[in-house]
Amino acid sequence: MDTAEQQAALSKENCLFCQIVSGRIPARKVYEDDACIGILDLYPANAGHVLLMAKEHFIFMPQVPRDVLDRIASASRIVARAALRAVQGDGTTIFIANGGLAGQKAPHFMIHVIPRLSGDGLPLAVPEAKIAPEVQQQVKAQLAAVLAGKQGLAPPSVMPAATGQEAAKPAQVQPVEKSDLDAITDMLAGDKDA
Ligand SMILES: [Zn+2]
Repeated sequence: MDTAEQQAALSKENCLFCQIVSGRIPARKVYEDDACIGILDLYPANAGHVLLMAKEHFIFMPQVPRDVLDRIASASRIVARAALRAVQGDGTTIFIANGGLAGQKAPHFMIHVIPRLSGDGLPLAVPEAKIAPEVQQQVKAQLAAVLAGKQGLAPPSVMPAATGQEAAKPAQVQPVEKSDLDAITDMLAGDKDA
């Protein structure tokens, strides 16, 4: 496939998911708001696997305007909660595959919401790689430098030096409010026993 063919394959006109959004291709739609629609995945990992697709044609997450992304992220929370209750799940796996190397198969931005059932055995756990501490330190500095350049954050030179005990004291983490904990517990518990 040459570049022109690739471009054509990725265009809005040829995008199956845009045709689902417009209703030209039927799908099992379970959710809709101004920014996105949610459909049952045709090839689900689990019962209740929902694809939340942007209504506009974007291929990758960095192309999605921030307000649209915020709304789709909020929708994923609503749909995750509903899917949990619908299939009596015990958790959800929510992810975005960004790029072919990351497993992206559709040329249209979407968030996967997959309800998890105990013992479902889905191979979705993230493995632990062995990364040398010096490499981690280098990556941290590089990330900080890039982020500082992009967002006006503190440059790496004013960040606290690594002490080897950083993980033990995450000073910036805010405590979870009890009301939030209740909401999370409620969500995870669903209304199974109701
Ligand atoms: Zn599309």
